[in-house]
Amino acid sequence: MKILLANPRGFCAGVNMAIECLEQAIRYFGTPIYVYHEIVHNRHVVERFRGQGVTFVNDIDEVPEGSILLYSAHGVSPEVRAKARRRNLKTIDATCPLVTKVHLEAVRFAREGYHILLIGHEGHDEVIGTMGEVPDRITLVESAEDVDRLPFDRDDRLAYLTQTTLSVQEAEQIIRRLRERFPQIVGPPKEDICYATTNRQEAVSQLAPQADAVIVLGSQNSSNSRRLMEIARSMGKPAYLVDSVEELRDPQTGAFPFRPDDTILVTAGASAPEDVVQDCVRTLLDCYGGEKEEVTVRDEQVHFQLPYELRVIASAQ
Ligand code: SF4
Repeated sequence: MKILLANPRGFCAGVNMAIECLEQAIRYFGTPIYVYHEIVHNRHVVERFRGQGVTFVNDIDEVPEGSILLYSAHGVSPEVRAKARRRNLKTIDATCPLVTKVHLEAVRFAREGYHILLIGHEGHDEVIGTMGEVPDRITLVESAEDVDRLPFDRDDRLAYLTQTTLSVQEAEQIIRRLRERFPQIVGPPKEDICYATTNRQEAVSQLAPQADAVIVLGSQNSSNSRRLMEIARSMGKPAYLVDSVEELRDPQTGAFPFRPDDTILVTAGASAPEDVVQDCVRTLLDCYGGEKEEVTVRDEQVHFQLPYELRVIASAQ
């Protein structure tokens, strides 16, 4: 078997920052400590923190008054922040700066009198947070077909924004449709789909043609991981999104769905830890023999600093 290991893959700067935030918060404050939603969308990461005494909540009312609360990498709406203030929670904001950028763009466009068309997926934490910034001035658009149903016309002041973890190609199609229907529409000065999403998709698009099948390590609720699987499938490749390679074994026989001479492309979503990737490679090579080759499609050197509230504590130690 040949294993092609895509690079870049796995943790992005926003996920690294959010995880470091929670690790430092545990170190400084101990537990119990609370996180609003999953710190990042990955089962391994969430279970590890749960094992250390972190409680993940879906409602601020579940957090005892005066506790420490982290906001996850996906960001929150102003309503959530207000609720946390009312409960006297000490909050640490681990929102990825690239998500915050979209929130600020939504506020700016709304202030300038635009109605915003947010391209994204209903129910995703990031979309809920962004829409919550300007709930009366924003409409979610999930597909090119949605564009045709919009109740606006060519005189309306319209702007579009995108979720950070969309398929670059699908987002381009929707934006093209928006521009056809509403030539007056304006967009952000710079693309909202983040560098990590773009680079991981580019690596899969370039490398999948050389592979017989594609494994994406990541959780089912990870938006950017799902997009990697979909891109590989759209190129005609069998593609699997799994938290661990063990999920690919046939429950009866224990066999993997591969042939010994297959070339397998292995990648990971932005919230999937590297040890899960290495475990996948080791398991397949133990099973089939063969070799791995790491292929770098793009170099990444992005780092985000910890939020102000944690840097202040760190400098005082
Ligand atoms: S995927 Fe992009 S937007 Fe999301 S946390 Fe990572 S860098 Fe930030």
